Amino acid sequence: MSGEPDGPEGRVRRFATIWSRAIFPVTATSLTRPEFEQQLVPLARRLRTALHERIFDAAEGQAIGAALVGTHCTDPEALSRTLDCVDAYLVLYCGDDGPREELRARCARLQHAVAAGFAAALRERTLAEQEAISGAALSARSAVAEALHASEARFRAVFHGAAIGIGIADLTGTVLEVNDALIRMFGGLENQVRGRNVAEWTHPDDSPHVWKLYEELVRGEREHYRVEKAFYRPDGTVLWTNLTVSLLRDADGVPQYQLALMEDTTERRLLNLRLRYEATHDALTGLPNRTLFFERLEKALAAGDGARFGLCYLDLDGFKTVNDSLGHAAGDRLLVEVADRLQSCATAPGEMVARLGGDEFVALTTGRDTEVEVDDLAGRIMHALSTPIRVEGRELTVRGSIGIVEGPAGERGAAEVLRSADITMYRAKSAGGNRFELADPEADARAITRHGLTTALPAALERGEFFIEYQPLVHLGDGSVRGAEALVRWLHPQHGIIGPDRFIPLAEHTGLIVPLGRWVLEESARQARTWTARHKDAGPLRVNVNLSPMQLNHPNLVSDTVEILERVGLEPGALCLEVTESALIGADDDLLKPLRRLAEMGVDIALDDFGTGYSNLANLRRLPVSILKLDRSFTQGMQHFPADPVDLKIVEGIVALAHSLDLAVTVEGVETGAQADQLRELGCDTAQGWYYARPGPPDQLHELALADATS
Ligand code: C2E
Ligand code: CA
Ligand code: CA
Repeated sequence: MSGEPDGPEGRVRRFATIWSRAIFPVTATSLTRPEFEQQLVPLARRLRTALHERIFDAAEGQAIGAALVGTHCTDPEALSRTLDCVDAYLVLYCGDDGPREELRARCARLQHAVAAGFAAALRERTLAEQEAISGAALSARSAVAEALHASEARFRAVFHGAAIGIGIADLTGTVLEVNDALIRMFGGLENQVRGRNVAEWTHPDDSPHVWKLYEELVRGEREHYRVEKAFYRPDGTVLWTNLTVSLLRDADGVPQYQLALMEDTTERRLLNLRLRYEATHDALTGLPNRTLFFERLEKALAAGDGARFGLCYLDLDGFKTVNDSLGHAAGDRLLVEVADRLQSCATAPGEMVARLGGDEFVALTTGRDTEVEVDDLAGRIMHALSTPIRVEGRELTVRGSIGIVEGPAGERGAAEVLRSADITMYRAKSAGGNRFELADPEADARAITRHGLTTALPAALERGEFFIEYQPLVHLGDGSVRGAEALVRWLHPQHGIIGPDRFIPLAEHTGLIVPLGRWVLEESARQARTWTARHKDAGPLRVNVNLSPMQLNHPNLVSDTVEILERVGLEPGALCLEVTESALIGADDDLLKPLRRLAEMGVDIALDDFGTGYSNLANLRRLPVSILKLDRSFTQGMQHFPADPVDLKIVEGIVALAHSLDLAVTVEGVETGAQADQLRELGCDTAQGWYYARPGPPDQLHELALADATS
């Protein structure tokens, strides 16, 4: 039961307890701690869901951050404690049995989203407060103006009682009157404000239009203006204000004075800066964190012509041992020292160091000569680490592995660059560590495939991350749609859509192809059933499903297929299984028996990628095959006009042989009308390719077939 202490709900509650303990001391809530915890429970549940969501949704993380502000957690400390807590406990309590590495990555993204949502909500809240204050200021203004005309006494009361700073100057800028609030803002000394000239209060941060607006006002060309402006206080500190200045005219409308209303925004600015700082820096080492690093990297990658970037991704070797044997406090101290040393390696303009989390750091260099610089940088880092670090009286030898990625801006995204660096770092590590390696796209691709995708495959099937696209099969004689080939894709939560060429070999290797293939078969059979039901009069629309060698050898192939067809209610004749030529080369009768059984039931068997293997054409007679699928390479030879005569002869020969053996011929990869014409002339029966349609959603086929039926 989920409510039990060990069930998911119980663990979510425990997480909420820890969380509430961490942030309760810094909230402005009037609730008790247990009441406050109750408010966090739904947020904790949402965090848990977001952690497991199939596709990461930053908006949900942001909404959680915003909701936090809604529960009166407006202190930046509450955010930083929340992030710490999520970082340390969310995966632990709410990760269930999911793959750790992915959950950690997801958790990190979630933290960014929460921080962003928190900051945005706080900003909005601040704006709302500001609006309220300026509304009050405006009514104060009219009150003051009225008072000037009407009664001096009433004016005095408003003037001195106002919480907002109010000053009156003449049109030359000499300050005549200031209220107590304004004097307090300037440090408390009246003579530092009264009698001074407004023009003395320039500040380097003044935007040019501040003084333009001022000139217009004193010339009587504008009634008021509102700006954000900084002032130096007499003691040299800076006062930030929202300043509203209005022109006061006499009863005849002649400009007389200027009235300034000032709201002190210094604290709020500092808070925003601090918030921004905390959201972008690592609490332990003070280094920029992942968020800030991503911002910088993205900027570097978006830089213009000729700009390049170089990235060192550092992971300490054996840091876990330090942590485990000497404790976390010692580990932390080590990290702080490493951070300091790294920082001193990257001091040039365009360079930065950040901590991504744990014992992972990055150093970035930007500019035009990063090819050379990044090597230097990596060298400096290795050198900086070579001196042992003293922690609790021990000399610890620190080593690290660095993955380097260098390249021109504008080609890759930040996530991709970081992934490449990460993979390269692992390569350095598995080569023994204490070294740096340079990224190599091919090694990247291999490593991604091996490490990430293979381990993620089983969960992907469970989580329903696969989907199928269908590519129509068209009859060359009359152009009608006869069916479609089912082509599986993987919607990977991080890498996006991955094609079968990348994961089918892995699925074959790990054996996952058997359940995956079964899923594809069932899904496609269901689809074919739906099409056929919708096109009763147009004849059945068939579906072609690819079979891998491992499925072919699986003892349950026949029983599984029969069972699926029955369950779905699809005629065997509406299914075609595609087997590659290479899978059948040298096949003995035992291997062919299941295929033969299926063929006897009426399932068509197609020989896929025909012409790429070396099968003996005469051998075709032995195989329980009814369709040859000519490989794309033949069609490619016909792309140019006139087509290569040798190619034409070969295809003509194959078609003639196939027909003499009662085999139909399908061609793949038809991309142009000219190819289609040529292939029709050569006697091919059906065709498939971009010329007709790219692989797409099942409804595409439905529409094409419908168009046939009505034309
Ligand atoms: P295949 O069976 O030879 O599938 C045809 C491939 O050619 C598909 O690539 C298709 O998108 C592509 N193609 C179609 N028309 C054109 C064209 O006009 N020009 C060009 N250049 N290409 C075209 P895809 O989808 O990447 O599939 C690759 C291979 O993955 C398939 O090759 C098939 O062997 C395998 N595969 C796909 N789905 C499954 C599956 O469910 N199970 C198994 N075991 N293998 C699958
Ligand atoms: Ca195929
Ligand atoms: Ca093929």
